[in-house]
Amino acid sequence: HFGYETVSGAEKVQRVMGVFSSVASQYDIMNDLMSGGMHRLWKRRLFSVAAIGAGSRVLDVAAGSGDIAIGLSKKMGPSGRVVLTDLNGPMLAEGARRVIDVGLLPGRADCIQSDGTKLAFADNSFDCVTIAFGIRNFLDIEAGLAEFYRVLKPGGQFICLEFSRPVLPLLDVIYDAYSFNMIPLIGEKVTGDRDSYQYLVESIRRFPDQERFAKLIRGAGFEMVKYENMTGGIVALHRGYKI
Ligand code: SAM
Repeated sequence: HFGYETVSGAEKVQRVMGVFSSVASQYDIMNDLMSGGMHRLWKRRLFSVAAIGAGSRVLDVAAGSGDIAIGLSKKMGPSGRVVLTDLNGPMLAEGARRVIDVGLLPGRADCIQSDGTKLAFADNSFDCVTIAFGIRNFLDIEAGLAEFYRVLKPGGQFICLEFSRPVLPLLDVIYDAYSFNMIPLIGEKVTGDRDSYQYLVESIRRFPDQERFAKLIRGAGFEMVKYENMTGGIVALHRGYKI
């Protein structure tokens, strides 16, 4: 299954860039197709646990087409500010287009291209740092977590939404069959690019499970780390605080 286990760091970065550049314009429709619309519910849960309010400063890493930034901005009022950052230019351009569309840019949002493992922001800058379905693409997950910790203000909250491990035995089997067969097929039919979707499935399998990921978050210095499973563990929402 894991065809890319042995690729070098540089190759992995190139591969991730290629995948997201090639899917950028069809990204939103593919999200809906592949998750059966469920990504909207997973994201809604992130919005509801975000400890933010009027005037908050929020950083959304691996922002992609901007769903998280747009959802969070609704809790922040006109004095809040959300920064979208992504490594990939074409994906961030989609995000910029959408935050302009909904009237957040200029004024309430910024789009800044940067690598999540080398963030272009000062220490203690944000009340909340979020990342949804992005960290599994990082070459160095721990370096990313250290950066999220660094840019958070003391008292700030970190929230991560990511694919995880199904915790129900039957779901496990169905999910495996679905993701290894259907996702690359849907990818091929809709975008003509089977390999990118094959890569996405494999990146999900390689990512640490709920407990191991929670341990990495604690290792980066976060306190009160906890997680909740959604859709039987297909997705997990982790959170922690910089004290
Ligand atoms: N957060 C958005 C959402 O939930 O709809 C987009 C998620 S998309 C699956 C993953 C994003 O991670 C892509 O936009 C990709 O460019 C970005 N990404 C991958 N590696 C990254 C890195 N090292 N630093 C920042 N962003 C990265």
